[in-house]
This record gives sequence, C-alpha cells and structure tokens, in this order.
Amino acid sequence: MQPASPSATHLVAGPVDECEVLVVGGGPAGSTIATLLAERGRDVVVLEKAHHPRFHIGESLLPANVALFDRLGVRAQVEAIGMQKYGVEFVSPEHEQRQYIEFSDAWDKSMPYAWQVRRSQLDELLFRHAGDRGARTCEGQRVREVSFDDTGATVQVELDDGARRSWRARFVVDASGRDTVLANQLRCKQKNQRHNSSALYGHFTGAERLPGKLEGNITIFWFEHGWFWFIPLVDGTTSIGAVCWPYYLKSRSRPLPEFFRDTIALCPELEVRLKSAKLVDERVYATGNYSYASARSSGERYLMIGDAYAFVDPVFSSGVLLAMQSAFDGADVVEAVLDRRRDANALRRAFDRNVQHGPREFSWFIFRVTNPTMREFFMAPQNPFRVKEALISLLAGDIYGATPIWRSIFVLKALYYLVSIGNLRRTVRAWRRRRVNIRDVEVQAS
Ligand SMILES: Cc1cc2nc3c(=O)[nH]c(=O)nc-3n(C[C@H](O)[C@H](O)[C@H](O)COP(=O)(O)OP(=O)(O)OC[C@H]3O[C@@H](n4cnc5c(N)ncnc54)[C@H](O)[C@@H]3O)c2cc1C
Repeated sequence: MQPASPSATHLVAGPVDECEVLVVGGGPAGSTIATLLAERGRDVVVLEKAHHPRFHIGESLLPANVALFDRLGVRAQVEAIGMQKYGVEFVSPEHEQRQYIEFSDAWDKSMPYAWQVRRSQLDELLFRHAGDRGARTCEGQRVREVSFDDTGATVQVELDDGARRSWRARFVVDASGRDTVLANQLRCKQKNQRHNSSALYGHFTGAERLPGKLEGNITIFWFEHGWFWFIPLVDGTTSIGAVCWPYYLKSRSRPLPEFFRDTIALCPELEVRLKSAKLVDERVYATGNYSYASARSSGERYLMIGDAYAFVDPVFSSGVLLAMQSAFDGADVVEAVLDRRRDANALRRAFDRNVQHGPREFSWFIFRVTNPTMREFFMAPQNPFRVKEALISLLAGDIYGATPIWRSIFVLKALYYLVSIGNLRRTVRAWRRRRVNIRDVEVQAS
C-alpha cells in the first residue's frame, strides 16, 4: 500500500505507542465509534486536538438520535442536559400564518421528541463515556499526518506544547469533523457544486420563546438572504444563527457583532423575539462555505465518519445524527477488518452506501428549501398518500430504519415537480436566483 500522501514517510518523531484502532477526533462521531469498539474489547485510542468542554456549533438534535443515545447507554445523561424539542416552527415572510410541525405526527409515532443541547456538554459527555467504556482518550493531541503501509498506519501527533509523538495502529478512523484530516491528505475532498452557504451565529440571553410545550422547539425563519435558526437551550440561553448565501457575508463592512445585528434586523419576526435579548460576550462566530464530501469514505485500513466524510447544510439539524449513525455502521466494518473476516468487504460496501444515504436524502430537500414551491409545502403541508407524515419522519431523522416512508417521499417529490411546472415562471426565476446565490466568494471568518 502506498503512503497516504506524497509527503508521508515512515520517519517517526518522538516516542511510539501502539493500539489496534486510532480515532482522530473526539466529537460525537469519534466518541461513539470509540465507545462501541471498546465495549467489544478492542484497544482503541481517541486523539482530540482540543480539551473538553470546548465550544462547538450544532445544538439541535433529532428524534432518531434518541435511539442511538439509548444504545450507547447515555440517554438519561443527555436528557439531563437537554431542552426537550417536540417539533419545528416555520416562519416565512411570505406567509401570514406560522407553521408548527410536531414529531409525534410522523409516520412512526414512537419518537415524539429530541433535545437541544450545548455541544460543549454533549461532546464532553460522549467523550468521557468512551473513556469509561475502556477507550484511551487523549486531549490536546492534534493528528498531523497519517501514513499507511501493509500492516497498519503510523500517525504523527503534535501535543499542545509542540512536542511530537507517534502511534502505530492497525486501523485509523477519521472523525476529525470539518478538519477532514484524511480527505485533505488523500486529496479526495470535493466541494459540493450544488450547494454553498455560510453561517453567522451567537448566543443570546433574554430571547422570547414559544409558550408551554413548544418552548424547546427550533424555529426556522426564512429571510431574503437565507434563513435563521432559533434554538432554545435549557439554561435560558438561545442559540441564534443566520445561514446565508456567500455573497451576503461578503457584503459585510462592519465588525461581526454589528453585522449580525444588522442581519437580524432584516427578519422582523425574529427581531421581535430578540427585542429584550443580549448577545452573550458580544461574541459572534462565522463559518464560511461549508458544503463538501469526500470522493470515498473508506480504504483498506481507514474509514471516514461524520463530518470528516461529508457535510451539506444545517437546516434539518441532521449533522450529529449522521455522524453518530456512521459511527455505528463503521464499528462493524472495523471489527470485521481487524478479525480478517470474510464479510469485511460486504460490510464496507454497506457502510459506503449508508454513509451516502443520509446526505443524499437530506440534500434533495436542502437544495430546495429556500425555493417558493418547497416553502409552500412546508408552510401548508397536505397529507395525500401520507406525504406529510413521511416528510415529518425525514425531519425526525427516521431514514435508516424500516419505516416505509420512501414511496410517500417519492410522491412528494413528484408533486413538487408538478407544482413547479405549474408555476413555470416562478420556478425559472427561483432557479436562476439560486444559481447566483450559490456562487463562490471568499468570506472573512472574523
Ligand atoms: C453553522 C452550523 C450549524 C449546525 N447546526 C447543527 C444542528 O443544529 N444540529 C446538528 O445535528 N448538526 C448541526 N451542524 C452539524 C454538526 O455540527 C456536525 O455535523 C457534527 O458536529 C459532526 O460531528 P463529528 O463528530 O463528525 O465532527 P465534530 O463534532 O466537528 O468533531 C470533530 C472533532 O475532531 C477534532 N479534531 C479535528 N481535527 C483534529 C486533528 N487533526 N487531531 C485531533 N483532533 C481533531 C475537533 O476538535 C473535534 O472535537 C451544524 C453545522 C454548522 C456548520
């Protein structure tokens, strides 16, 4: 097997340690696969470049995630840090009414809620849990390079103080999130040609929430340059984010906090909810053009899981679910490879299919979510052929199990095309607009 990059060598810096499986990154994907493999008696090491608890965006979870927390044995812990989320509120400037979608109206009524969480807490909880289940968890260790040979991989690591060390592993799992360590090194990361968005986000105190049981719902507000999320957290803080087309972020001429407030002012319905709110620490984050996928998700001695493989867009809050699901699927492949089982290749092919399934199914809707026809579907959903129930199931993340939603999703897509053709002028206008919207521009991140 060739080294993973032209610069990769087998020169080893610093002391060398050994393990069976080395996981790059201790976010939800990395901690999940480490837990599963450690529980099966594997010698697993997780290397995390940061120190938990650390900030991360991605606070809204999906009902389908609950079953995965259950299987990991952390459901009660997640419940303790989470705000119960029973559904989604949609607010559109072109519609008088607001639309409320409840997960209990999905095809399968047995997954009625999820949680909103602070990711610093969730990710630390999952990381420590992996340690409790027997994985060796290391913080402040950044993977710099991975080189493969016939018996395994050598992984070069940089510590917080700049010192170097190396690991020998039989198998490497890349769970490094948007850093995409292996896809960069293997030069197989591909920009998504069909989508392009950027985000601005911060935390507020004092935001006005929905009443009663709806308090924990996520709200999606559409506005001229994209959409906002409104995610209530259990401690009273609310996460607000604007997901915009790149040209809009490029237009910024003021510091981020001011620009963020100006952006919020473009969405009067959100501005009202924030009229008494304060931006925590005057801190606003920006994430530029983030839609990508790797051309492959696995090799003889590696897998890419979660965002290390692909990320499309946060509108359906699917990132953590896809990350954890890929870890569950990936654990079976790693085991089979380590045991040199005959079914290893079949499992790897199934993993490849599954890891593409989530981004593909969500993408169809993501590409169209700002389109007027699709917006109408969300704002006034009808249920012929159970299409509404199927759509809610998809929004709940119920796309991997046996729930028979796919025929109804097909009908929904067909209806979308029929309505689009029926409103041809509007459709062509929206299509042209989208082509302009997704054009690439360089965005300043601070
Ligand atoms: C603006 C925005 C909003 C989002 N909102 C949501 C949401 O509401 N709900 C949702 O489910 N998802 C959301 N997401 C997506 C979500 O954040 C990710 O999909 C999810 O965190 C993926 O988990 P992961 O474990 O694959 O990666 P990560 O959570 O990113 O974890 C990767 C870990 O690897 C570590 N790492 C990176 N490089 C190295 C290295 N070289 N060596 C060692 N460690 C390394 C990082 O420090 C990190 O801890 C959002 C994303 C964006 C950009």
